[in-house]
Amino acid sequence: MTAITNHMPTAELQALDAAHHMHPFTNNNELEQKGARIITRAKGVTLTDSEGNQILDAMGGLWCVNIGYGREELAEVAARQMRELPFYNTFFQTTHVPVIALSAKLAELAPGDLNHVFYASSGSEANDTNIRMVRTYWAEMGQPERKVIISRKNAYHGSSVGSGSLGGMSGMHAQGGMPIPDIHHIDQPYWYGEGGDSDPEEFGLARARQLEEKIEELGAHCVAAFIAEPIQGAGGVIIPPDSYWPEIQRICDKYGVLLIADEVICGFGRTGNWFGSQTLNIRPDIMTIAKGLSSGYAPIGGSIVSDKIAEVINACEFNHGYTYSGHPVSCAVALENLRILEEEKIVERVAQDTGPYLKEKWQALADHPLVGEARIVGMMGSLALTPHKESRAKFAADAGTAGYICRERCFANSLVMRHVGDRMIISPPLVITKEEIDTLAERAWASLDQAAAKLKEDGLM
Ligand code: PMP
Repeated sequence: MTAITNHMPTAELQALDAAHHMHPFTNNNELEQKGARIITRAKGVTLTDSEGNQILDAMGGLWCVNIGYGREELAEVAARQMRELPFYNTFFQTTHVPVIALSAKLAELAPGDLNHVFYASSGSEANDTNIRMVRTYWAEMGQPERKVIISRKNAYHGSSVGSGSLGGMSGMHAQGGMPIPDIHHIDQPYWYGEGGDSDPEEFGLARARQLEEKIEELGAHCVAAFIAEPIQGAGGVIIPPDSYWPEIQRICDKYGVLLIADEVICGFGRTGNWFGSQTLNIRPDIMTIAKGLSSGYAPIGGSIVSDKIAEVINACEFNHGYTYSGHPVSCAVALENLRILEEEKIVERVAQDTGPYLKEKWQALADHPLVGEARIVGMMGSLALTPHKESRAKFAADAGTAGYICRERCFANSLVMRHVGDRMIISPPLVITKEEIDTLAERAWASLDQAAAKLKEDGLM
């Protein structure tokens, strides 16, 4: 077999891809008809494909490339660590310097008494850890019946059986036997889509109080934890009304229900603070981390756990762990990523400089006839597409039809934006410059124009 390289013609690479590679969350037969786009290299915020196109990646890969592509320092650290100690486990009374250093750094960065880290290779695995850890915590506390975890519809917490059950994606629950028992879902704080004529703050309170109703219905003695993303990401970048989180925190405190903040997207500067919990004023008992922890350069995730929980879990043998828990190369890469975020003041820039600039440009998109709302916190933003702004109407087509049309136009205009239903979302590398933000906004506007023209042609607007 001849070597498969970047230099092969695109069509040949696409055919091989279709023949042997099963893509996640994809109808692979439909993709085969189109041919997958082949990304060959990337630098800063810009991807290059096999046809030589330069594309502005406003999704930061998959919400993860916080420091941008192409940082040599991370490659060097990875190579050095691979030479020195490519792998060793942390199961049998051994440890290594990269995992020690990363854990100490995370304890320093994380708020409050979140001082202990249990590692995984991904956000899904970390949330699986959380399911078992909170149940073990309560069992060790003499309350083994506290098993239920409450989550939210349209939440995303991962794709394994455990984390997918925590998530509230109906399309996922329809396949493969999810959710597992003792997971319950309440409604999401999505005022634009579900709030009708209600006042947003009243709506936020009502949605938070569903947590209290659920706890009362099941009995507090059965409820182990509540899990939520500070700002829902994959659900469509849904920024809750201000009233929501304080009420959730009050309810968790009142019933002694543990609060798990899934920071997989919100963590590491995305919202203008190190963690979304700081932006939203939440005091979690556990934070799930992944993605921006290594800026996606190496697979790593984890759970940052409070002193209170660690005290209990550390006093028993928690029969849980992954071969790659605390993988030395991933830890070394993550540590270098955190050094760059910190020394280059990237989080501060998001809060004070480029974030506000992006906000101004993003919110201006709300003037487009196709856009019902433009919301953004830090560097995660969304647009709601609508045929009628005033009534926040939905399109007379399956949800996602308009979003898909818009996403295709973006791609054609060398801009990666994703769509979730009929919401367009962005999560660019945090190092995006003002000039690149201008380009992002210009391409987004042009794509919206073209999408609107197509929707009119199709009689949908
Ligand atoms: N939690 C959240 C909030 C996420 O957005 C994701 C991934 N998009 C996950 C968990 C799962 O992470 P992973 O894909 O690394 O398993």
